Amino acid sequence: MYTCGPTVYDFAHIGNFRAFLFEDLLKRWLEYRGFKVTHVMNITDVDDKTIRGSQKQQAPLGQYTEYYTTAFFEDVNVLNIEPADHYPRATQHIPEMVSLIKKLIKKGYAYKGEDGSTYYAINKFKNYGKLSRIKIQELKAGARVKVDEYAKEEAQDFALWKAWTPEDGDVFWETELGRGRPGWHIECSAMSMKYLGETFDIHCGGVDNMFPHHENEIAQSEAATGKKFVNYWLHNEHLLVEGRRMAKRLGNFYTLRDLLKKGYDPKAIRYLLLSTQYRQQFNFTFEGLEAAKGAIERLRNLMRRVQDADGESGGEKITQLMDKVQTSFGEAMDDDLNISVALAALFDFVRDVNNLLDAGTVSRGEAKEVCALMLRFDKVLGVVGEVKEEERLPEEAEELVKKREEARKVKDWKTADSIRQRLKAMGITIEDTPQGTRWKIKNP
Ligand SMILES: [Zn+2]
Repeated sequence: MYTCGPTVYDFAHIGNFRAFLFEDLLKRWLEYRGFKVTHVMNITDVDDKTIRGSQKQQAPLGQYTEYYTTAFFEDVNVLNIEPADHYPRATQHIPEMVSLIKKLIKKGYAYKGEDGSTYYAINKFKNYGKLSRIKIQELKAGARVKVDEYAKEEAQDFALWKAWTPEDGDVFWETELGRGRPGWHIECSAMSMKYLGETFDIHCGGVDNMFPHHENEIAQSEAATGKKFVNYWLHNEHLLVEGRRMAKRLGNFYTLRDLLKKGYDPKAIRYLLLSTQYRQQFNFTFEGLEAAKGAIERLRNLMRRVQDADGESGGEKITQLMDKVQTSFGEAMDDDLNISVALAALFDFVRDVNNLLDAGTVSRGEAKEVCALMLRFDKVLGVVGEVKEEERLPEEAEELVKKREEARKVKDWKTADSIRQRLKAMGITIEDTPQGTRWKIKNP
């Protein structure tokens, strides 16, 4: 699986993370279903944007992109995104790109323009426009575009290798194609095929990437190899913020860091960005972020409750509920990652188990099974994390620990000791350390 990674010219914004989180969900779901996933995500550390950005800051390109690359990995970690197996950087794969372009020249798909840049001749590739459904007759054959991003109506021969111009400053490589730098699209063709082979299963990205980026990737790769490039393309839809397109000039533009600074919990951000099916437009709101926090809390609460549960067995009830949620969650996720339906099934389950817990009809063993199932679901969602038994004492015991500490403060050793005995009877051992009282729950 290849997912177009960040262009490291700025901090990633929540629209970027909607894509990275949908891809994380996809990968985790495939793993849940028993697939072994090899995931490659590139780092675009040389392109029009990074060069412009570094020049604005008067910093060397490498130093500038390194800063945002590090920030990106920090963000990935904060959002609990499973790391990819490979994070190839464009600047470290120039020879692979040059050799791919040479292949295209040799096969007649690429040519050198009078400006010294190498272009891809789109009318030579008969399937050009298939992914984004543009018609070949609309294309202006022979016209050329050197910038990395352009509209469908501007589809024309695009730059594979951009000859150096003074605007590029010290960013260039001396290669057989002349002094210059790669175009953005060839980067992903070269790096994906290097790590995943000439044909691989899944390629993802935001819907903005479909044209020209992915269209050009297909043209480059399939022309060079004569093989199908990708079996499945998955594109996530746009993110809106409070009903409008996110834009700096509208004042509704948020990086992950902006939200963290406002004090929002990364797990809630993760949950919210995940919770709409990827092909739907998603409207980010602060109200939604609050609701996400509540949803996670409901999941965590159930985890805590089942860890404490020690009631009568409810007969077949728990097993039936567990079968039901696994089926409906699974069917929904298998249906093009229909996460909202999957989550609805999960919360029905949470409600039903809570009802059984209220009635005292969940045994210790049943509770453990529920707990294991919840952890399996969370391996997919990544929003709860481990709610360790040791993390929390039963309310009654917590009260006793507090009382004992108070007693010790006033040197009432007798009370302190009798409380220790009561706790011991509850399976909780107490240890007094210079840092305060530590407790441990004996494994039942
Ligand atoms: Zn890409």
